[in-house]
Amino acid sequence: LTAEAQAVLDEIEEKDVGFLRLQFTDILGTVKNVAVPADQAEKAFTDGIYFDGSSIEGFVRIQESDMRLIPDASTFAVLPWRKREDGASARMICDVYNTSTGEPFEGDPRYVLQRAIDRAEEMGFEINFAPEPEFFLFEEDEDGRATTKTGDQGGYFDLAPKDLASDVRRDIIYGLEEMGFEIEASHHEVARGQHEINFEYDDALSTADNVATFRTVVRAIAAQHDLHATFMPKPIPKINGSGMHTHQSLFKDGKNAFHDPDDEFNLSGTAHSYLAGILEHAPAITAVSNPTVNSYKRLVPGYEAPVYVAWSDRNRSALIRKPAARIPAASRIEARFPDPSCNPYLAFAALIHAGLDGIEKGLEAPDPIRENIYEFDEEKRKEYGIETLPSNLGEAVDALEEDEVILDALGDHIGEKFIEAKTEEFTDYLVDVSEWELDRYLEKF
Ligand code: GLU
Ligand code: MG
Ligand code: MG
Repeated sequence: LTAEAQAVLDEIEEKDVGFLRLQFTDILGTVKNVAVPADQAEKAFTDGIYFDGSSIEGFVRIQESDMRLIPDASTFAVLPWRKREDGASARMICDVYNTSTGEPFEGDPRYVLQRAIDRAEEMGFEINFAPEPEFFLFEEDEDGRATTKTGDQGGYFDLAPKDLASDVRRDIIYGLEEMGFEIEASHHEVARGQHEINFEYDDALSTADNVATFRTVVRAIAAQHDLHATFMPKPIPKINGSGMHTHQSLFKDGKNAFHDPDDEFNLSGTAHSYLAGILEHAPAITAVSNPTVNSYKRLVPGYEAPVYVAWSDRNRSALIRKPAARIPAASRIEARFPDPSCNPYLAFAALIHAGLDGIEKGLEAPDPIRENIYEFDEEKRKEYGIETLPSNLGEAVDALEEDEVILDALGDHIGEKFIEAKTEEFTDYLVDVSEWELDRYLEKF
């Protein structure tokens, strides 16, 4: 056993943990659990825990169904909302292995991200990510089902007593801190019922783990207050939706490789190329970073979400923004298009590969756009050479199918299953008849 694994066994003993949830995510980013009694922990570290992969969406066919989970000891955390007299529950995030070959399973999203990180490492880079997940807190109806009602009248950075949900947010933050999160800031967002909690940046893999954990903790603690937390990107039309801005920087030899004090924007050539890579592959990335039909209802002009493929050192209508950095180590870029319905492992992997591709090819970033791009007409956009993001999931999947770099990022297994699932989702949406159509046409014709 490694020292880290031994420390987990000690902690299980000390904190009287009865059950362990071994977690991983499916292709769509849903957290899956295999619960085992805590006395199985040692075996989990040494041999892994076997499970039937054919029951997991997009994993494997029935005839090759045995999979093995090996827990990552560094992700051990006691679940704060499940403290029991008769023993606590804890979780560990796992890597998935093929039982027949003993190799990492290529359908495991965590492995897809690990491959992206490995590629960066081969190029001499370490990657830091910090996400800003936004979400809504809604009331439940009498049957405990989610509504889109909010009792909350707050607005951006409003304080109590308007911010009725601040108690819930405080409990969420305590829960996250108990699970090892360092919370940087939390505030009420622009829309009614909308919130944002930011946590400290970390390496890309830990950050993706954190996003998966974050969503679970926020939902579980909101539910204790009879509220439904949703990461659906655009639950209410005509007001702001929920994004998951993703701050990124590369480090080389312990120094921020995105920083250059002599550049007009304090961005290095590496940063410019990384950014250019993301702009270049943005249409295909959106299929992964904005993977639902609803995601594209957020990416419309007027609600602080990006629509056009451009970057800016100031305005928020751009796809990528260069936030002001107080110190060189904080130099970074902020991708503003991802939303919190994405599978963070796959979305981060797509962003990293796109950025590294930009560095490898020495792509040059266009000039930043400093005006409000929402107000540009088509002619002006043409003049500036500004492309538009896919306007729906179908277009995004088409873009993905044509982008070898992003397909390679996902790998054959996940690429194929992902496209299959998303094509089905979009087709299902297209044949549906919506409330909007009934309202508009039923009585008119
Ligand atoms: N809610 C906005 C979005 O959809 C972002 C607001 C902000 O700048 O934090 O991305
Ligand atoms: Mg925000
Ligand atoms: Mg932001």
